Amino acid sequence: MDLLETYDVIIIGAGAAGLMAAFTAGGRGRRVLLIEHGSSPGKKIVISGGGHCNFTNLVVEPANYISQNPHFCKSALSRFGPYDFIAMLEKAGVRYHEKKLGQLFCRGSAREILNLLVEKCRLAKVTTLTTCSVQKIERGEYSSNQRYTLNTNLGKFSASSLVIASGGLSFPKIGASDFGYQVATQFALRLQPTQAALVSFNVDLSEMEAIRGLSGTSADALVSCRGQDFRESILFTHKGLSGPAILQISNYWHPGEQITMNLLPDIDLADTIRQWQQQRPKATLKTLIGGLLTKKLAERWIDLLCENKAVNQYHAKEISAIAAHFQQWRFIPSGTGGYRIAEVTRGGVDTTALSSKTFECKQVPGLYFIGEVLDVTGWLGGYNFQWAWSSGYCAGLYV
Ligand SMILES: Cc1cc2nc3c(=O)[nH]c(=O)nc-3n(C[C@H](O)[C@H](O)[C@H](O)COP(=O)(O)OP(=O)(O)OC[C@H]3O[C@@H](n4cnc5c(N)ncnc54)[C@H](O)[C@@H]3O)c2cc1C
Repeated sequence: MDLLETYDVIIIGAGAAGLMAAFTAGGRGRRVLLIEHGSSPGKKIVISGGGHCNFTNLVVEPANYISQNPHFCKSALSRFGPYDFIAMLEKAGVRYHEKKLGQLFCRGSAREILNLLVEKCRLAKVTTLTTCSVQKIERGEYSSNQRYTLNTNLGKFSASSLVIASGGLSFPKIGASDFGYQVATQFALRLQPTQAALVSFNVDLSEMEAIRGLSGTSADALVSCRGQDFRESILFTHKGLSGPAILQISNYWHPGEQITMNLLPDIDLADTIRQWQQQRPKATLKTLIGGLLTKKLAERWIDLLCENKAVNQYHAKEISAIAAHFQQWRFIPSGTGGYRIAEVTRGGVDTTALSSKTFECKQVPGLYFIGEVLDVTGWLGGYNFQWAWSSGYCAGLYV
């Protein structure tokens, strides 16, 4: 029979949120066991942001997160915000810079952040077990306290606080699993439907016809869905569309819904064409629009709609159709690139069952959920790591 090792806190998942919670709790003198089923902690941190980890954003607001319960993230974000994490990095001498739109990246390698978190766990005397798989969780009476007992391939462990920090479903090849959702179901918590998010769109064959030959072309565009819009670059791919604006809108998109795209967001194209008719009547539409957009994209887009003529030969109805074609292009993605390539999972453990202050389940004392496993999904730009740091820190204060 396995010996039972006892701790105050067991955290499952040594990713961003789990590491943060582990050293925060350990720093309070709690005896913490951190369990990771992969071969090493923090694999997503290491590969994130092209190896430089976009670890937070200078401006983080609740509006940057999607959840069935939009108020849930407010408390943790206000108690541990971007500047708290930045202060931690500065104290440790980790150098960083702003790339664009408030997005902060490591100047050196993302591994510097992981090394810092691991070192903080070591100083807080956290015990970390890798390649440890949890086979069974039981909650019951043990030495007068309600405790959680875990059977794993590396032995039997118990603690009065159990933290689920096992993340979402994206990037299964580096350890993502549905473990957190299984635990939620075991303890009768509700789940919000999950979907791959911060992900590229696929388009079906008929739509592909429109974008054939554009693979590798990028453009600045305003992309809209469900009343939300993002202005950033888009990228045509051999399967559909990608680029930051597409990843952002994928957070909001539901299967079957239409995406609207404005390829010339700075102008009113109908007005501009009417001005060209006065100022440059003999120039062709391709030449004129080619001056505003990548030539290849302008030409392909015009070919799809109409004949290329001198601009003074277009009548009012054609002008409206051309403007709509460039400024309100509508398409329905046939799907997404899926969890294999998605940066995050939208949906997850329903937050209404949890305290937004402590992250403890209201009906299941001692059970906590933090990070991406929860139904809280951030925009592209450092918001998801910030959620992991904020929720991990706050739970670490109470476990
Ligand atoms: C390629 C990529 C790039 C990204 N870049 C950025 C970025 O630059 N900025 C940003 O803000 N966000 C980025 N993200 C999103 C960000 O990585 C996640 O939102 C964040 O890591 C979530 O933290 P977490 O601790 O909740 O989960 P994770 O970091 O995913 O950690 C969960 C841990 O739990 C482990 N685990 C899973 N199941 C079990 C189990 N059954 N038993 C034990 N352990 C288990 C996993 O192996 C993993 O180590 C990126 C994601 C990807 C995939």
